[in-house]
Order: sequence, then C-alpha cells, then structure tokens
Amino acid sequence: MKTIARIVLAALALGAPLVPAIAAEKKQAGPHGGRLIAGLEPRAEFFVTADKKIQISFVAADGKTVVAPTKQVVTVTMGDRAKPTRLEFARSGDALLSTAAIPAGKDLATVVQIKPSADAKIVTDRFNLDLSKCPDCKLHEYACTCAH
Ligand SMILES: [Zn+2]
Ligand SMILES: [Zn+2]
Repeated sequence: MKTIARIVLAALALGAPLVPAIAAEKKQAGPHGGRLIAGLEPRAEFFVTADKKIQISFVAADGKTVVAPTKQVVTVTMGDRAKPTRLEFARSGDALLSTAAIPAGKDLATVVQIKPSADAKIVTDRFNLDLSKCPDCKLHEYACTCAH
C-alpha cells in the first residue's frame, strides 16, 4: 500500500485537476443522497454521515438497492496536501464506515480509492469535498447532480 500512498501524494502535489471520473453521463445521486462512484460493479456511494464519518455503500444497477460489501477495500486520503489524512474503513451494517472522522476544513481535496477485489484494479475518484447544500438539487455539493 506504500506505493499507492506515494502515487496519491504525487497526484496531490502536482495539483491534478479534480474532475469527476465520469463527466458526460447524466449524474445521479446514491440511495443516501451521496456521490455515486462509477467504474466498478457494483458502484459505490460516498456519503458523509451526521457525525462526519465517511460511509461507503455499494449500489446495485438500479441505483437504489444497497448491496453488502464483499471484498472491497476502501481508502480515502484528504485534506492538507503536505500532510494528508488517510482514512481507513471497517464494515458497519451494510456499508463500510471510516474508523475516524474527516478532518476539519472547507473544500478538502479528497481522493477515494476502492479496490473491488484482490486482483482487480483500483478505482480512483478525486474531488473537493464541498459540504454546502446545492440550492438547486438540495444535495450536498459533493454529490450535486446539476450541470453546473
Ligand atoms: Zn450544485
Ligand atoms: Zn445540485
């Protein structure tokens, strides 16, 4: 996992543009109103809970049904580029929940990495964690489904 951490740090250091993995498709929110991450099957939903932990759920093709995690391993790296916070996850009910809360701050640079199974490629989603509410779709901006 050390190599991965180094790649993440390199990406953060280079100031790689924070574009969502899928831009063209019509955006859809996850079943909890979170951000859907495509590129893996089942898709993942990134959601910040009321106590500021990150919950990752897996979502069936219908976009609504939550399926229990199997072999997925999730890591989130976020915050201060010089000293990012790395969050790890543990099973909690039908989801994976970060073992610690997110760091304080606004619009934190966030890198979500999901390894769907032992021999699968890691899926990466990078974005700024904007926790303000979108005036149009009423979701948090990190999960906003509007075109802006
Ligand atoms: Zn918005
Ligand atoms: Zn919106």
